[in-house]
Amino acid sequence: MPLPIWFCRCSVCQAARADAALRRTRSSLAIIDRQVTLVDAGPDLEAQLEREQIDWPDNILITHWHYDHIAGLAALPDMPLRLGFKPIELWLPAEEAPRFERELAYAASAFRLHPLTAGDRFTLPDAAVQVVKTDHTAASIGYVFSASRRWAYLGDGCAALDELRELDLLYLEASLDDADHPALAARTLEAVAALAGRIGARRTVLTHLFGHRLVGGQLTTGLSAAERRTWELAHPGIICAHDGLRITL
Ligand SMILES: [Zn+2]
Ligand SMILES: [Zn+2]
Repeated sequence: MPLPIWFCRCSVCQAARADAALRRTRSSLAIIDRQVTLVDAGPDLEAQLEREQIDWPDNILITHWHYDHIAGLAALPDMPLRLGFKPIELWLPAEEAPRFERELAYAASAFRLHPLTAGDRFTLPDAAVQVVKTDHTAASIGYVFSASRRWAYLGDGCAALDELRELDLLYLEASLDDADHPALAARTLEAVAALAGRIGARRTVLTHLFGHRLVGGQLTTGLSAAERRTWELAHPGIICAHDGLRITL
């Protein structure tokens, strides 16, 4: 979910309304080198492409078919093709390809589909890519990239730890700052920090970061910007993502 969230008037959301630097759009990654490769395409995609001055991505890799990871695909028009851009190479879980064909048939000409299964490997101009199963949905997958460095973007959930060895950089979902419900406990900052410690990537970036606690079924404020900085200082090697975050490998 984005920050501020439209149905919340807590102090963290109000601070983000007052200061654009504190706002967060939905999670996605752009790998920018010889090509532009996006991982996930959420509903903020158009604004994110405009903000980052990306004319047209070469590749989009989808982790799973949830609205906050795929809705941006629906907004990519075929007009750029008439301007000379090539169809986007769209990599997605094989089980979700029928959903693409059903829900986005009108946009199909803008894409070339590459259905994937966990264990698959493919090569992009900027990195070799390994597809790993994640534990988020029945079909969800993550991506481990190898070039001069190794990095992984898992979307939501996590993959088997032995597939995540010797990473220079790891992107992991931490949706909540804290939670009082056992079903959500795996997504809190502390739980994900402990998981990141077991994986042992040189650097870990936490994404999703809606933040707000669920206490007794009620939404309550998440960490303020200052509290989040304090949390990062107490967890060396782990940072919380923010809009426009740039990492050079
Ligand atoms: Zn709020
Ligand atoms: Zn999801």
